[in-house]
Amino acid sequence: MLLSWMTAGQKDKADMITLNREGIGMTSLRTRERLVNRLIEQGIQPIDVLESIRTTPRHLFIDEALSHRAYEDVALPIGFNQTISQPYIVARMTETILNAAPDDATILEIGTGCGYQTAILAQHVKHVYSIERIRPLLDRTRQRLRDLGVNNVSVKCADGNLGWPQHAPFDCIITTAAATEVPRALLQQLKEGGVMVIPVGGREQQELKLYRKIDGKISDETLEAVRFVPLLGGVEN
Ligand code: SAH
Repeated sequence: MLLSWMTAGQKDKADMITLNREGIGMTSLRTRERLVNRLIEQGIQPIDVLESIRTTPRHLFIDEALSHRAYEDVALPIGFNQTISQPYIVARMTETILNAAPDDATILEIGTGCGYQTAILAQHVKHVYSIERIRPLLDRTRQRLRDLGVNNVSVKCADGNLGWPQHAPFDCIITTAAATEVPRALLQQLKEGGVMVIPVGGREQQELKLYRKIDGKISDETLEAVRFVPLLGGVEN
């Protein structure tokens, strides 16, 4: 399912705000097309994933001072020592999830951050449950998602290591912070046939792993080397 979460009117408004705020060009279609072409060169294939990257206003998920870099294929700081993921990684994780997800999938995301990955996923699935441990960061993100009209997402401030048992089991789980060990509770909250994408490793070396639950057993596959902020415990107020 591809939800178009910005109406034409909203998009015009967003573009106008952008023009007023940052001058012409930075968020122009051309910079977005360039990003999408780069993702295609890097092997991202599904048209619907590429289209959601093209149409999602990444510049509205980061600090205004950095908005001129919003459509570069790089991770950028979002405050609180955290980052917005590199678009290639967002596309790759989304592609991996969607390969395994049914049309009416419910997804659990650990590490909402600024909500960019959340907003991309929300365009392709029925519902995204997303957990962030830094409360002030989540408060801003909750408001941002609301302003953008993303309404099939539920967020909460909690330790994502514990998952969200009230809404389990999930078709897919995505973790956007690196775990030294895969949290058990997350594997338990995966549906039969479900998949989990998660970076695993220490600060220096991490691999993006894909776990699958088949007949109650977990198998794993390594996708590629990545670099994420660490998955921590507890919450920060
Ligand atoms: N998904 C984001 C990337 C966020 S960076 C994007 O679209 O760009 C990773 C986020 O994971 C940070 O905001 C960090 O605070 C959060 N995080 C780390 N450990 C966590 C935990 N145990 N539970 C929930 N969130 C966690």
